[in-house]
Amino acid sequence: MRRSSEKSLIPNEVREAFKRAAELILPFKCAVCGGVADTDDRFGNYETLYRAIYGMESELHICGKCLSMTNTVDEDNRWFLCLSNPVENDPCPGLALYMPFTYKGILERAVPRIKFGKNVELARLFGIILGSCMRNEGIKADLIVPVPLSEKRLEERGFNQAYEICYPAAKINGIPAAEDCLIRTRDTGRQSEINDSSRREGNVKDAFKVNDGWDVRGLRIIVADDVATTGATLHEAAKALYKAGAAKVLCVALAGNRTVKNAEPF
Ligand SMILES: [Zn+2]
Repeated sequence: MRRSSEKSLIPNEVREAFKRAAELILPFKCAVCGGVADTDDRFGNYETLYRAIYGMESELHICGKCLSMTNTVDEDNRWFLCLSNPVENDPCPGLALYMPFTYKGILERAVPRIKFGKNVELARLFGIILGSCMRNEGIKADLIVPVPLSEKRLEERGFNQAYEICYPAAKINGIPAAEDCLIRTRDTGRQSEINDSSRREGNVKDAFKVNDGWDVRGLRIIVADDVATTGATLHEAAKALYKAGAAKVLCVALAGNRTVKNAEPF
């Protein structure tokens, strides 16, 4: 009680004035927590890569506290079976998922900033990190395709976060990215609002197909998303690519909370 009444003794104007003064000294806002960002020595060669990929300077700032919450998965344990609960008669059994981050710490805070705060540049930062991880891992493919959003969601958000993440990753690895290769055949609503894993599978069943303008026969394709939970969405996207004649499909997601089940590298 006492503490809160003391706090209210500082008028809002005074608090605002202090905040503005702080912003003059450290003028950058952290894209993840919204706090003041100390901008130097942040992400190694991120700025150089950003400039090379987008032909402009990056505007992104992340504070040291958020950066210290990065949860990378141990390098030897980044391969998973795409489906957390494998199904019988799976048309793509053993489908592999490469995922370098756990959905904790900075990622758990950053992904909502990307999706609901519409922070495209934050998606690109993690795409650049993902691309570097893929390069170190030696992952090669003919094409990278993002999991598509429904038209309605794309209109709401203005961008597809899966595409924004996979585009710089594709560039870094010299693989073409195809935003319109997969399309949604229907709006499935938000997977994140469904808790039950079998219902998640049912919700996305046959939700994707390959765009008529694309011939994917014989190609090795990476299908990419931001977060993988049960893997049902990526699995359906892979199914559509195999159905259209892809030779081999690998799933890549930035983050997810998986423990065991190592799959074979691509
Ligand atoms: Zn921060």
